[in-house]
Amino acid sequence: MFKSIYPYTQELIAEYQEHTENEIATKLLTGEKAYRELLKTPLDKRREWMAGIATSMRNNVTEHATIITREMGKTLKEATAEVLKCATTIDYYVENIESILQPRIITSDAQKSYVSYEPKGIILAIMPWNFPYWQVFRFAIPNILAGNAGILKHASNVSGCALAIERLFTESGFPMGTFQSVLLSSKHIEPIIADPRIQGVTLTGSTPAGKSVAALAGKYIKKTVLELGGSDPFIVLKDADLKEAAKTAVQGRMQNAGQSCIAAKRWIVEQPVLEEFTAAVSDIIRQLKQGDPMQESTNMGPMARPDLADDLARQLGESVKQGSRLVLGGTHEGCNFAPTLLTGVTVDATAFREETFGPLAAIISAADEDAAIALANETEFGLGSALWTKDLEKAARLATRIESGNVFINAMMRSDARLPFGGVKQSGYGRELSLEGTHEFLNVKTVYIH
Ligand code: NDP
Repeated sequence: MFKSIYPYTQELIAEYQEHTENEIATKLLTGEKAYRELLKTPLDKRREWMAGIATSMRNNVTEHATIITREMGKTLKEATAEVLKCATTIDYYVENIESILQPRIITSDAQKSYVSYEPKGIILAIMPWNFPYWQVFRFAIPNILAGNAGILKHASNVSGCALAIERLFTESGFPMGTFQSVLLSSKHIEPIIADPRIQGVTLTGSTPAGKSVAALAGKYIKKTVLELGGSDPFIVLKDADLKEAAKTAVQGRMQNAGQSCIAAKRWIVEQPVLEEFTAAVSDIIRQLKQGDPMQESTNMGPMARPDLADDLARQLGESVKQGSRLVLGGTHEGCNFAPTLLTGVTVDATAFREETFGPLAAIISAADEDAAIALANETEFGLGSALWTKDLEKAARLATRIESGNVFINAMMRSDARLPFGGVKQSGYGRELSLEGTHEFLNVKTVYIH
């Protein structure tokens, strides 16, 4: 049984039965049929159906947002924004999918040669609870428009979201089985990955989950895209707009109660502005109101599960023992974790070394810009990063030295359908979104006409 628990009160909302082997066999069969149907469907039809999903999400935004808030605790405001972001991303792809799938003509010694981008079959998506709609849609929209079918194994605490998303597709006009959810424990995933109808696996989640799924996918020669954890640096140089940088740092760290792979987890600040920056962020953090996620006035909800809050408390406790100074917050009750600020964090502290997946900001002092870049790279992760300076030439130069999949200058790191998204190092490989992300699970087919 999968339990959905409202994190704010720990109330049990619903229980879901795990799918049986027979049910999963039926889903694979239906998914394969849907894929064959999609192959015969003109792109315009797929665009029309997908656009209908965006309309339905907009018409029922509060209903969807409430499912999210009840299952994983983010504020209703944040959940509403998440649902609307999915709808906007559908708009983007409906508009641009044709050019993204356009064959690429290549001059060779052939009469004509080109690359065409063709669907492959069913793609398995293993997704996390932190953005339970967005993470799924960012995979599903481009893939299904391109002609693949999808099977989702969602995190076991957000089964209601998984089924609501499946319903959106079922009611959209797409062939039955185009997008399906399986309610399944991760320990039963191997037979699905092994199934010949599954042509690829995308996973967003922790590094251990990524390792395990990639090993299985390797065993069966299935392509993977892995979007794993991050410990993004947020670098503030001495010539930065400190007011804006402070506001953005807090937003980038504390939104979604800090549970984002691309949250600004390590604030690396050049020494001359350390004091001023610390004062500015402290003022903003003090104004955050953590509490009832359904209330309009709340700007930070609970964390998604008590074990995640306990783990953050462990990381905090260790970091303080290792010499970091607790300036704000530091307490928690159940999933409700007070926004927390640590200063004087060093490379040896747990808050520096490990990914912190909750509302804990860590300030690290850097002697100069070279030291700042070295500290930014002193991590096994390499997902996103942000760099704040008014000197844009310097910013572009330093951006090349940051080991990450994304560098945002004077802005908050975020995902945007127009821009590829993904990491390097232990943050994973492959890309989502944009052209690069859409091509990941397509057959990049060379055609040579003599
Ligand atoms: P997990 O990585 O364990 O879960 C993410 C997804 O992967 C879930 O659907 C989960 O299913 C599935 N999964 C986990 N292990 C396996 C496996 N061996 N085989 C197949 N599927 C698997 O995240 P947690 O919820 O445990 O969170 C722990 C930490 O992971 C966080 O503190 C954070 O550091 C990181 N994380 C990163 C995210 C990101 O956006 N990059 C998102 C969420 C977490 P099930 O729920 O059934 O176990």
